Amino acid sequence: MGISLAPPERLATLNGRLPTITTLCSHSSLQIFHGARKEGFRTIGLAAGPTPRFYDAFPLARPDQFVTVPKIVELPSTAPHLRSEGAIIVPHGSFVEYMGAEAFTAWDVPVYGNRKVIGWEADREKSREWLVSAGATMPRRYGDASEIDGPVIVKYYGAKGGKGFFLAKSREALDDFHPTGPYVIQEYVLGTRYYMHFFYSPISDRGYRVGHGSLELLGMDRRDEANIDELYKLGSQEELLKAGIRPTFVVTGNVPVVLRESLLPRAFEVAAKIVERSIELFGGMIGPFCLEGIMTEELEFKVFEISTRIVAGTNLFISGSPYSDLVEPNLSTGRRIAQEIKRAQELGRLSEIVS
Ligand code: ATP
Repeated sequence: MGISLAPPERLATLNGRLPTITTLCSHSSLQIFHGARKEGFRTIGLAAGPTPRFYDAFPLARPDQFVTVPKIVELPSTAPHLRSEGAIIVPHGSFVEYMGAEAFTAWDVPVYGNRKVIGWEADREKSREWLVSAGATMPRRYGDASEIDGPVIVKYYGAKGGKGFFLAKSREALDDFHPTGPYVIQEYVLGTRYYMHFFYSPISDRGYRVGHGSLELLGMDRRDEANIDELYKLGSQEELLKAGIRPTFVVTGNVPVVLRESLLPRAFEVAAKIVERSIELFGGMIGPFCLEGIMTEELEFKVFEISTRIVAGTNLFISGSPYSDLVEPNLSTGRRIAQEIKRAQELGRLSEIVS
């Protein structure tokens, strides 16, 4: 048996009934509703403003009920209604970002996964401490500009979509950087990016065993980032800078990728250690997470970030991926979440996956 994440009174609303899978109408909601429906759940879509229309175009992913509030900050007020409906909230990236980590953490409704993970992910220092102490290799960080001996990327704290990140090919080039807020200087890692979609189940007793449960790989993508991905077509970085054009990393879409197969064992080892360390640090990262990193020509995977919930790159794989097909046909991450909730309830172990 694993660790209980939720106070028993929070789960009382779910006793003896099938939960209603609930999420915010954005990000990966189509996949979450579609997967829940396939597993026989009712669903609720939360939205700010008018009822979103675009679900009418996707009948297999339309939630059974919409709950709307005038503004996103008013979402906490829906708690009594959601509890009466037996809701379990499935968090996703936009959900936590729009609502705010503090309000989300304090929300008195059952949430899928361990809400303590939010504090570890949101703080760059804490997430680095977690990943490095788990044995993951991260891009080198420079405390002082005088130590720089190669290309660097300067990142502002809390920059959404890499806004204002500064790239410099050398220490000298950094003279042109004039900070407008707190930042970190990181080694610019040369290589190819991979965003790996893992799933940790603490209640599974099959597969690749980690902690009390098992680790699955459900997909992999690479993000399209504007304007950096196509910027080279306009000329060299120096020319662009002269014209006042700077690189940005705003995510605009996702493309599917697979990793060279001989690199998979190492990817699993790194992910497993990160899960094990999360269990020691805060009771465990439960369910989907994404390791985001760069594979170098020495075949070393340098992790620059972890996302501790379903990522939008999984939207590529509603009908399965080259990895999830080898776990079960037609398995999306959204569907895997629904399966997990169903199984935990059958086993009387919901408190280990819901907080
Ligand atoms: P946050 O999630 O805190 O808002 P962010 O998502 O804007 O931050 P990152 O995910 O750290 O920022 O980086 C954005 C993009 O910058 C990555 O997807 C990748 O393309 C690039 N990048 C980040 N770190 C490095 C690095 N050390 N070397 C090379 N490229 C990097």
